[in-house]
Parts: sequence; C-alpha cells; structure tokens
Amino acid sequence: MHELALMENLIDIIEQSARAHDISRITKVRIIVGKLTAAMPEALELAFQVLTRPSTENGSHGINWENAVLEIEEREVLAQCPECHKQFKVDDLSLMCSTCNRPAQVISGRELQVDYFEGE
Ligand SMILES: [Zn+2]
Repeated sequence: MHELALMENLIDIIEQSARAHDISRITKVRIIVGKLTAAMPEALELAFQVLTRPSTENGSHGINWENAVLEIEEREVLAQCPECHKQFKVDDLSLMCSTCNRPAQVISGRELQVDYFEGE
C-alpha cells in the first residue's frame, strides 16, 4: 500500500518538527494531498490510524499521538498555459489550453505535504 509509506514519511516529518519545538503530544494534523499523487484519502486515514496507534514498546518514537485528528485537504490539479498564462482545472488529464491550444504546465496537484500540526 503506497499510502502507508507516504503517511509514514509525513509522520516522520511531523515528529522531527515536534521534537524541535518541544512538543510531546500531537492533537491535530492537516495535510494537503494533490489529486495527481493518486493517494486515496481513505487509505491515508487508515494508514494514519495504524501508524499512530500506541505501540506496546511504550512509544518508540516518544511522541504521543493518542486521539490525534487527521484532516486531509484534497487539492485539484491545476495547469497554466505558457502562452496566455490562463490557469485552469485539469479534469480529464488533457493539458491543452482551450484558448491557445497549447500544452500547459501542471502548477498544482502534485502536493503531498503537511499543512500544519497542533500539539502541546
Ligand atoms: Zn493559453
């Protein structure tokens, strides 16, 4: 499951940042997931639950995730035309600008990142 590895990576990033800010308990996490990543929000949520479950080894990572809430913001795929700079939503994976009929560049939709997290 591709989402498990992605979520593991995000949790790593959060834990490193939490440690740097003297935070020992995470209460809320918000992540941004671009639709081009093909990561399913339901699978990310499940991976989050599995990965933040209290471990029997008494918290090997030293961060308390109990009752932490995950919020996922899905981001549309956006492209921009190099000619007229029009930005448009990519629905059908056609990247042609409807005005100039030129291939546009994807400017959003590849994100998979932590927006913010809260803790204490
Ligand atoms: Zn154009």
